[in-house]
Amino acid sequence: MIKVAINGYGTIGKRVADAVAAQEDMEIIGVSKTRPSSEALVANKRGYPLYIADISKKPAFEAAGIKVAGTVEEMIAACDVVVDATPGGIGKNNRALYEKAGKKAIWQGGEDHEVAGFSFNSSCNYADAIGRQFARVVSCNTTGLCRIINAVDKAFGVKKVRATMVRRGADPGDPKRGPVDAIVLNPVTIPSHHGPDVQTVLPHINIVTTALVVPTTFMHMHILSMDLKKKATKQEIVDLINAHPRIGLIRHGLGITSTAEIKEYASDLLRPRSDLWESCIFEDSISVSEDNELYLFQAIHQEADVVVESVDAIRALVGNVKDADKSIAMTNKALKFEAI
Ligand code: NAD
Repeated sequence: MIKVAINGYGTIGKRVADAVAAQEDMEIIGVSKTRPSSEALVANKRGYPLYIADISKKPAFEAAGIKVAGTVEEMIAACDVVVDATPGGIGKNNRALYEKAGKKAIWQGGEDHEVAGFSFNSSCNYADAIGRQFARVVSCNTTGLCRIINAVDKAFGVKKVRATMVRRGADPGDPKRGPVDAIVLNPVTIPSHHGPDVQTVLPHINIVTTALVVPTTFMHMHILSMDLKKKATKQEIVDLINAHPRIGLIRHGLGITSTAEIKEYASDLLRPRSDLWESCIFEDSISVSEDNELYLFQAIHQEADVVVESVDAIRALVGNVKDADKSIAMTNKALKFEAI
């Protein structure tokens, strides 16, 4: 069993912990929090040993009825791999801790590529991650872009990509950012950072991206166009999506035309936390122009798509499963992740 520690048990960390605990070849040896909270209490209830960065805060945790197992350093010492899911920009400060302990570590997309020197997406570059000490799972938006661009590139060749990300303003459980009654250019400059981020995984892809933030919490929406090298039909693109283990098709005829309805669908399917680990491509949006340009809309559940990637990244770093398809299938099966 691979012993996994989760440093930062928040939106992403708690989901990765549950996904790891469900795998037959992994176990959670600890998760960490900085302050007492309902999430910390849930970690206790799940049976995940809870470690804290500042041991002087232990009485505050205990006063809230939350058991503390020890310090973050003790947690790191006990693991084989640490998944760092601390807030973006904080994780890089932990690199020295992991290096000193000689542990493998996986960061999330809020950190720059340089934190690990290797950016990961299981469908694109699993084999290149095998045996590495460090990897960074790219952000939710970059994950969604990489999955479809790589699949289409392998089948038809991609000359160039243009993509606009309509981004959620905050996660549903985050009261700090609040509703913003505006469309915020994010950033106002063009291109956005997402194109170069895709190139950390797929360096040969010609891509320009733009992004804006809107007052919603459910999901992001991507408007994508790709110039293809080989002629493709809509049906061939649909077949490609149906064959991909991490891309779902919002089928024609279901009446779904919004992120709200996708989330309701996931909730009705009894997905845990109504999570959508797959990119959700609207079948009705897929079209290929006469001059061979592919267009589509895809919705990305920001809290979930990187979770399954993080589980695969653990296997790749440890090297116990050498084949990407095998790891992806193991991860999906353990989560009872069936096509939407
Ligand atoms: P979050 O704020 O929900 O959770 C972070 C957790 O880290 C908190 O629970 C907090 O207790 C803990 N923490 C804070 N400071 C810490 C410290 N110094 N040491 C240890 N733990 C600390 O953040 P999140 O949304 O889960 O984001 C985590 C990472 O995942 C970031 O890199 C982010 O960019 C990335 N990410 C987030 C999303 C998303 O939509 N939320 C999507 C993809 C990737």
